[in-house]
Amino acid sequence: MNQTLVVIKPQAVARGLSGKIMARYEEKGLKLAAVKLMQADRDLLAQHYAEHAGKSFYDNLLETMESGPVLAMVLEGADAVTAVRMLNGATDPLKASPGTIRGDFGLEMAHNVVHASDSIQSAQREISLWFPEMAVK
Ligand code: ADP
Ligand code: MG
Repeated sequence: MNQTLVVIKPQAVARGLSGKIMARYEEKGLKLAAVKLMQADRDLLAQHYAEHAGKSFYDNLLETMESGPVLAMVLEGADAVTAVRMLNGATDPLKASPGTIRGDFGLEMAHNVVHASDSIQSAQREISLWFPEMAVK
């Protein structure tokens, strides 16, 4: 059993896709442990995306992520980190298989619908960042 962080990105929230996306995770068998609609500030995003600082897409990424409310959630289940990354599909929506969330709902790399933690370690770090009120299991 592990936990992972998912953030539905602003454009997807604005397009009204949150319910459909959350249903995909729930249908897979993942359990919603926490969820909140929030405006991410620059400080949070800079910490969240620290590994990408200095890359060509970094400024645009932070700008996009703070352009409107996001839906942040903690999902848990057996191999939740891997299960969610599989459901999300490849980072580039054009390379993501149909049937995945990015493959079905995304078109551009900058608006690739969702973020998800890429390892158990990242998940723990990201959950404490986005849900400081939650104790990480
Ligand atoms: P993932 O979200 O699949 O873990 P990364 O951690 O590599 O992908 O990148 C973080 C986010 O930065 C991606 O979800 C995407 O929105 C954006 N991104 C990554 N690579 C590029 C790129 N080459 N051009 C534009 N945006 C990018
Ligand atoms: Mg990543």
